[in-house]
Parts: sequence; structure tokens; C-alpha cells
Amino acid sequence: MVHFVGAGPGAPDLITRRGAALLADADCIIYAGSLVNPALLGLAKPGCAIYNSAEMTLEQVLDTIRAAEKAGGTTVRLHTGDPCLYGAIREQMDALDADGIPYDDTPGVSSFCGAAAALCAEYTLPNVSQTVIITRMEGRTPVPEAEQLAKLAAHGATMVIFLSIGLVDKVQQALLESGGYRPDTPAAVVYKATWPEQRVVRCTVSTLAEETRKNGITKTALIVVGDFLGENYERSKLYDPAFTTEFRQGTEAGQ
Ligand code: SAH
Repeated sequence: MVHFVGAGPGAPDLITRRGAALLADADCIIYAGSLVNPALLGLAKPGCAIYNSAEMTLEQVLDTIRAAEKAGGTTVRLHTGDPCLYGAIREQMDALDADGIPYDDTPGVSSFCGAAAALCAEYTLPNVSQTVIITRMEGRTPVPEAEQLAKLAAHGATMVIFLSIGLVDKVQQALLESGGYRPDTPAAVVYKATWPEQRVVRCTVSTLAEETRKNGITKTALIVVGDFLGENYERSKLYDPAFTTEFRQGTEAGQ
């Protein structure tokens, strides 16, 4: 059996209890390189075989899993954050299906949630944005034409940009291209959210590239953009004394 497990964004106590139990029980752990906190590998039982997938191809990962299966062992495939985002799990799952090897998936706290926590921010503020766009800048890995950053930016919604800090100049340009964001729309770069080395750089769209460079941030960072980082928003209807809900009678007439 193979367990895909989300390791969380970095802090070792942000893995789920289920994920930690699966790690402690595994005969083989294949973890996703430097983005997984090595402290989590300390949960492994004695004799557990541990592999760093940053040095492996898909074929080598699959061969390692097959060998563990053959020996009757359990494998944890440990992905950073939540496996469902940029985790390359689909290709592994399809290969396991072809081999008849069973697997399941345990979610984790994605780094986009870790970044919001670092900022003490709410991505979905009433009358500001009710949408979070999770995306990346096109680099060596292409992005479909309809999802080019400049096109997504046109919505002016809250945006979290993964895997793109090395392309921050292009990111800044694309964000401004369609007019969806203003040059003074707030932005932030969150480096190693929830790790001890965590750093938060607050800026605007027009100072994003400069501030990133000034702070020497070149990897393991998210770029977040939108007026959710600003001052203005409306209070929630849910907790408004006037608003009637299924659980509470509001004061507003006609409700
Ligand atoms: N599945 C992961 C994302 C993997 S892609 C998740 O759910 O978070 C790797 C990218 O995620 C990095 O290039 C960086 O943009 C982002 N990332 C991962 N961990 C991070 C962290 N602790 N702080 C900031 N960004 C992080």
C-alpha cells in the first residue's frame, strides 16, 4: 500500500495526525527534497528506508515503490504542503493503477495557507475579493494560453503565485499588463512560511521585483497579490446583528 501524504508547509507540527501516524508506520519513505522539513523524517521507525525524490526520476520513484510493495512493506510518498498542488501525484497514481498497487491520499496544509497565516490575512474579504487564484508564471513548464498570468490578473482577485519567485520581474510586468491590479495594489512575498527562517516582505505590485531582490529572496517563496492586504473591506453578513441566518434571528425588518 502506498500513502501519499501532505507534509504541510514546513513546521513539523503542521503535518496532520494521520500523516504523522502513517510516517511512523512506514517501511519506506520517499520525500520531496528540501521543501519537506527533515524533522519529519525523525518520525520514521528504525530500519525505514528513506529516499529523497529530488534526486530521482519518476521511474526511479516507481521502482522504489514496487520493490517495497514486493517486500510486503508500506510506502509513504511525502509531498510538500498538500499533494494536490504542483505535486505531480497524478502520474504516480496512474502508474500505480496500471500495476494494481493500492494507494490513498492524506491532505496537508498547503503553503498558500501557511503564507496567509504568516501574514495574518484573510484571502476572501467581503466586497474585496471572494476568489483565490492559485497559479504560477510560465517558465520552463508551460502554462495553458487561457491561464497566462496577465489574463488571470485581469480579474483583480486575490492571487497566490507559486514557483515563480525566480521570474519576479516577469510576474510584476504580467500583473500590471491588463489593469486588473493598480501599481499600488498591495502585494507580499512570503519566504519559507512556517519555517523558523520565515520572512514576510510587504510591498506593492510596482515594487514587487525590487523588494524581492533587495531582500535576497530567490526560492521557496510565494507571491500574494490583492486588496485583501489593504485597509478596506465590509464586515461579514454572517455576524451582522441585522442579518438573519438559520441559527440566529436578525434585527432587520422583513427577514
Ligand atoms: N504542494 C505544495 C506546493 C509545491 S510547489 C503546497 O501545497 O504548498 C513548490 C512551491 O511551493 C515553491 O516553489 C514555493 O512557491 C511554494 N512553497 C512551498 N512551501 C513553501 C513555504 N513554506 N513558504 C513559501 N512558499 C512555499
